[in-house]
This record gives sequence, C-alpha cells and structure tokens, in this order.
Amino acid sequence: MRLSGATRIAGVIGHPVRHSLSPALHNAAFAQLGLDWVYLAFDVAPHAGARAVEAMRTLDLAGLSVTMPHKETVAAAVDSLDPAAAALRSVNTVVPQPDGSLRGHSTDGAGFVASLHAAGVMVAGRTVCLLGAGAAARSISDALGRSGAAQVTVVNRTMASAEATAALATAAGSTGIVGTVGLLDDIRSADLVVNATSIGMGADGSGGGGVGDLPCDPAALRAGQVVIDVVYHPRETPLLRAARAAGAATVDGLGMLVHQAALQQQLWHGAVPDVSVMTAAAERELAARRQ
Ligand code: NAP
Repeated sequence: MRLSGATRIAGVIGHPVRHSLSPALHNAAFAQLGLDWVYLAFDVAPHAGARAVEAMRTLDLAGLSVTMPHKETVAAAVDSLDPAAAALRSVNTVVPQPDGSLRGHSTDGAGFVASLHAAGVMVAGRTVCLLGAGAAARSISDALGRSGAAQVTVVNRTMASAEATAALATAAGSTGIVGTVGLLDDIRSADLVVNATSIGMGADGSGGGGVGDLPCDPAALRAGQVVIDVVYHPRETPLLRAARAAGAATVDGLGMLVHQAALQQQLWHGAVPDVSVMTAAAERELAARRQ
C-alpha cells in the first residue's frame, strides 16, 4: 500500500473497536479495486459519537462505518437517513453527499439478504422464523419485510423486544408476528430459520464470546429448511452442525458481514468490490486470531 497526500481516508468508529474485522475487509477491497484509499479503526468513547460525525465533516473523511455503541447517536447526528436507517433509527454507514451533507445508511439487513441471494436462497414469499430481537435481528426483520418475505415470526427471550422487532417486518411490507420460545411449531413450519441471538459465539473456545448453547431445540430443524446463523466466530456454530445433521441447508454469518461491507464500499465510491477477496481477507484475519 502506497500512501500519498491524495489518499482518501475511511474508517470505523466504535468502542471497543480493536477486534474489528472491518479494516481487513475494507483495505482488501480498496487494494483489489486499485483505489488510493485507506481504512482505519477509531476507538471513540461512548459519549463522543456525535463529535466523531463533526470530525468527519472537518477532516473530510470519505466514508465511515459505525458500530456499537454509536449507531443510534450517529443516526441523530447526520443530515439525512436512508429508509432502513430511518426505520431502525440506527446507522452503520455514513456517506458524504455532493452538497457536503452526510447521509446515514444501514447496510446490515441488506447485507444479510444479499448473502442469502449469493448462496442461492431467495427470501420473497418465504416464511421465516427469526430467533432473537437485538440489533442484528431488528435490521434483518426490516430487510426481510422489504424483500417480500411472506411472514416473519420473531422468537425471543424478552417479549417486548420481540414485538418491536416483528413490527419492523410489518412496517416494511411483510407480516410480522411473535412466536413462543420453546414452541417447536414456529421453527419447524418455517422455510428459513435465522439465529440472530448471540448464542453460539465462541462455542469452539476461540474467545469470540462464551455462549456455547443452541438457540433452539434441534428437534425442530428438518430437511427442506434453510438454517442461517449470523454468528460468524466460529463459522460452524453448534446450530449449523445440528441443522446439517437434520438434513437442512445452512448459511453461515460471514457472508452477512462481507456483503454489508461490500454495500458500504459501493455507497462510498460506486465501484463493486469482489466479495471473494473480502471473504478471504476476513478468513485470514480470523485464522490469525485462532493462533
Ligand atoms: P444484541 O443487540 O445484544 O442482541 C442479543 C440477542 O441475543 C437478544 O435477542 C437477546 O435476547 C439474545 N440472547 C443473548 N443471550 C441469550 C441467552 N443466553 N438466551 C436467550 N437469548 C439470548 O446483539 P446483536 O448486536 O444483535 O448481535 C447478536 C449476534 O449477531 C452476535 O453474535 C453478533 O456478533 C452477531 N452479528 C453478526 C453480524 C454479521 O454481519 N454476521 C452482524 C451483527 C451482529 P434478549 O432480547 O432477551 O436479551
């Protein structure tokens, strides 16, 4: 990489942020596209998200990714929002506009749907059982609604957040309803089962989390279903192993991570990066962490 006075700077703000895979993903994409851009990680204290947005204006940063705990603060600090970011009141991407204003986007849900399409799994007209109602689940529910899912059933430990997450699918065009934790039928009857809880993280002792359980009873999984896990560390979670054993097709969470980043790249400079190059960069980074 050759840096110059003309090098454009993009980056991620978060806290903590040192563990982020985004620098590996985005710098690989810039290199593959032959762009004179560099991507850095900025550890921004929890109270300083809005100041980071002002710094982006001052320093003329070319693009910003936003991760926890700044997504909501940044949604309030930018000048306009895309429809998904407006529905979620959460921003993971900031894009400078030609008039100098900053527009906030949310690419997580669209990245999730793009990763399914890349795996040959269509969403339109399908029934989905969504396990979890946190930040990832909310963006997925909204994106499933926008993509024409027939029905999104949200199953979560905390019922109030399940209802809010199901409402996002309804607002975006699908039918969102709330299922019951432990009720096998909600899971068994779905075409697609999505784990968007943090259960399964670090289940291989990799240090990626510490929760080693399954997010649902594996007896509910069956052949003819597609089971998707948004947890990507480890790539093969206990849920995906159980799904394969039950004869279901599986999609791991690395695709969502890579595709949401590829969408960020397109928003920043318009070029379409090679997702296989970005995936290989993420795999190298994860392998290095296991050593
Ligand atoms: P979050 O906002 O903290 O939500 C966590 C969810 O997991 C909530 O629904 C929570 O239920 C549930 N949960 C956690 N521990 C549980 C337990 N022991 N039993 C039952 N439910 C439990 O987290 P998030 O940001 O949505 O992230 C969730 C996972 O998605 C993480 O593993 C994260 O790494 C992954 N992720 C992946 C991508 C990707 O690109 N692949 C993107 C974003 C996130 P309650 O509501 O009841 O607390």
